[in-house]
Amino acid sequence: WQIALGLVVAFIFSVIVRQVVLPTDADPEAMSAALALMDSIRQPFVFVGEVFIRLLKLIVVPLIILSVMSGIQSMGDASKLGKVGLRTMVYYMATTFLAVCLGLLVVNVVQPGVGLNLSDPGGETLVPKPLLHVFRDIIPPNLFEALASGDMLPIIFVSVVAGLAMLVLGEAVKEVRVVVDQLNVLIMKITDWVMLTSPVGVAALFVQTLLDPKLADLPSFFESLGSYMFAVVAGLGLHGFVVLPIIYFVVTKRSPLAFLKAMVPALLTAFSTASSSATYPVTRECVTDRAGVKEDVADFVLPLGATINMDGTALYEAVAVVFIANALGVDLSFGAQVIVVVTATLAAIGAAGVPSAGLVTMIIVLEAVGLPASAYALVVAVDRILDMCRTTINVFGDSIGAAVVSKWVGED
Ligand code: ASP
Repeated sequence: WQIALGLVVAFIFSVIVRQVVLPTDADPEAMSAALALMDSIRQPFVFVGEVFIRLLKLIVVPLIILSVMSGIQSMGDASKLGKVGLRTMVYYMATTFLAVCLGLLVVNVVQPGVGLNLSDPGGETLVPKPLLHVFRDIIPPNLFEALASGDMLPIIFVSVVAGLAMLVLGEAVKEVRVVVDQLNVLIMKITDWVMLTSPVGVAALFVQTLLDPKLADLPSFFESLGSYMFAVVAGLGLHGFVVLPIIYFVVTKRSPLAFLKAMVPALLTAFSTASSSATYPVTRECVTDRAGVKEDVADFVLPLGATINMDGTALYEAVAVVFIANALGVDLSFGAQVIVVVTATLAAIGAAGVPSAGLVTMIIVLEAVGLPASAYALVVAVDRILDMCRTTINVFGDSIGAAVVSKWVGED
């Protein structure tokens, strides 16, 4: 509740600042002076927000390595790891696929962008990593480079392999196992401390976003992009608050509402950081301590989920691509929409759990259906807000995944 309170205070504060500082008439000079003032009010919050993100990022890498390794230890045997791994993949692929289909359904009903008749803005474009490289890069040629750059997928890969080796060697490496377990306890203590700072950190990040001069002209964004934003948020809402809870209920027979309540700190952190990876320490704490999912399963499912399971991103990419097609006056055939389903699922897997990653991998989907890559610029202006929303659903999807897989392998 402290985090929620922080968010509410941050929101009220930002609305007041915007109201007081931003002029109502459109005099450009007054506007740029007001924006400069708003930016200087924002700076202390940027500072606090950055400190918070640094703390989270600081603990993410050791936390993932240690919790994956010790999670695999406590599974007891390699066949359980295989069982958990297989079920995790099935859940991740199925829910991501469902999310894209839901996104397409919503965007075809809402039809945002139809009649806008925009032209391709041209200009520079971002270059996403080819999908094949995403899979190739799971294997790091240099472990230290992966650790230093915080590349999650290779780090998880190495941790799983090391955990597996420890499991197979058993007693022969018992000292190493003790060290890993104790270091894990240590990093979890540090995580607790970082969590104490989260109400302030989350609030500062929210103010930082709301007072961003780039979002000065919110009303006009809503005018042109409102129906697109609505389609994304409606799709995310349906997926996060209807589809996923139903899956949770059907598998675990427990109250999705209680689970949602347990996850609130993680969801609010995801919302304000727009990063599944940075949120990981909070997600783990909520899933294990607050929702009571067993650690061995959660420690495998969650890190992987923070990196590859992105229901929100997949849904968003599908909606954004159809919106762009509509806005450019291109009619996407049924075949093209099938291509959207396949590529958006893969592109979401390829997106890292960091801010804006989904925007970049969306370009893969755009190109797959023959739309110009530079057209991503049409949705850039409001991407941060939508990133916050989709990251929240990404994290919720991972968390439900941990509970569901835990149930599937016979744990509660
Ligand atoms: N920011 C998202 C995440 O971390 C990824 C995205 O940009 O869609 O989950």
